[in-house]
Amino acid sequence: MRKKVNILALPPEQLVVLLSGLGHPAYRAEQILVWLYQKGARSFADMTNLPNSLREQLSEFAEIGFLELVRRLVSRDGTEKYLFALADNQTVETVVLPYNIGYSACISTQVGCKMGCMFCASGLPGFSRNLSAAEILAQVLQAKQEVSAQGRELKSLVLMGSGEPLDNFTAIVAFLEAVQDPRRLGMSLRHLTLSTSGLVPKIRELAALKLPLTLAVSLHAPNNSLRDKIMPINRKYPLEELLAACDEYTKLTGRRLTYEYTLIEGLNDGVKEARELAALLKKRLCHLNLIPFNAVPELELSPSAQTVVQAFTAILRSSGVKVTVRRRLGADIAAACGQLSNKMSGDC
Ligand code: SF4
Repeated sequence: MRKKVNILALPPEQLVVLLSGLGHPAYRAEQILVWLYQKGARSFADMTNLPNSLREQLSEFAEIGFLELVRRLVSRDGTEKYLFALADNQTVETVVLPYNIGYSACISTQVGCKMGCMFCASGLPGFSRNLSAAEILAQVLQAKQEVSAQGRELKSLVLMGSGEPLDNFTAIVAFLEAVQDPRRLGMSLRHLTLSTSGLVPKIRELAALKLPLTLAVSLHAPNNSLRDKIMPINRKYPLEELLAACDEYTKLTGRRLTYEYTLIEGLNDGVKEARELAALLKKRLCHLNLIPFNAVPELELSPSAQTVVQAFTAILRSSGVKVTVRRRLGADIAAACGQLSNKMSGDC
C-alpha cells in the first residue's frame, strides 16, 4: 500500500503542488490550512467547504499527522503533561504550563537524548530518533487544542522537552518556519525559547539565521572540570568555545541570551561556584535562570536547600547579573525541568 503524505509536513507551496496534481486550484490550499491550523480539523471529512471529490482524494493520498494521546497527567499547580504515541509506536512527552501571562507549551524534539546530562531523565533510556518537523508541530497543535478547550490561549513555546533541539537542526529550522508562517501557526518567534546543551557549531549556524527567538544555554557549572562531569558535551565544546559562540549569537541577533543553571546540592551550589559564575556572566548581555534540581528517582542527586539558593542568588545579583529562580511547576507529575522520560505512569 502506498504511504500517505502527512499534510502537516507540507509547507503551503508544496500543498499547492499536491492539490494541483489532484486537479484542484491553489486557493483550496488556503482553505485546508485554515482547517488545520485555526479550526483544528482532525480529518478531511471535517473540511466542509471543500468539494466532496477533494475530501475523498485527500483521504486516499494524505493524512493529518496528529499524535495519539495515550495519557494525560494533571498537576496540583495546573501543569498538564501529555504522553503521545508516534506512528512507529515510540512515545514522546509534551507539557503545558500555566503562567499569569498565558500558557506555555514545552515541546520535545527527539525521542530520548544523546547528551547524557547528569541531572536529566530524558537521556537515561538513551537516544532513539529525531522527531520530524511535522511531529514537533503536531505537539504544538495538540497542546493548543487542549489549552483552547479550557478557554485559554497558548502564548509561548519552549523547546526544552526531551532531546537536544540543535542535534535535530534541519527539522527545527523547518518547524520554526511553520511557527512564524501566518498561514500556519502564525506565532512570533519572540515567544519561543530554544534550549541547548551547547552544540557550538550549531549555535553559530543558528546565529547566522538571525531569528528573533530566545536562545537558552544550559551551563550548570562555571568551570570546565565541573561542567565536564555534569554535561559530557563540555568535553567536546568547552566553556571558552561555548561562551564565544554565545557572544557571537548575541552580536549577530541583538538578542539577550538566557543561561540555565540547575542547582544541585553539594555539587555546583557553593559560594565558589557562584563567584565563578558571576565572573563569567556579569559583562554579558544575558539573563540567568536558576533552576532548583527536580528529583529523578533513578538519580542520587538532591536539590539545594532554600537558604543555599538564596545565598547563590544574592552573590550573582550583587555582581550585577540579572537572575530569576525558576518556579517549580509540574514536579508532582514529573513534568518539571529534567524530569521528562517518555514513560509516564499514573492516572489520567
Ligand atoms: S538536559 Fe536536554 S540535552 Fe541534556 S540530557 Fe536532558 S534533554 Fe538532553
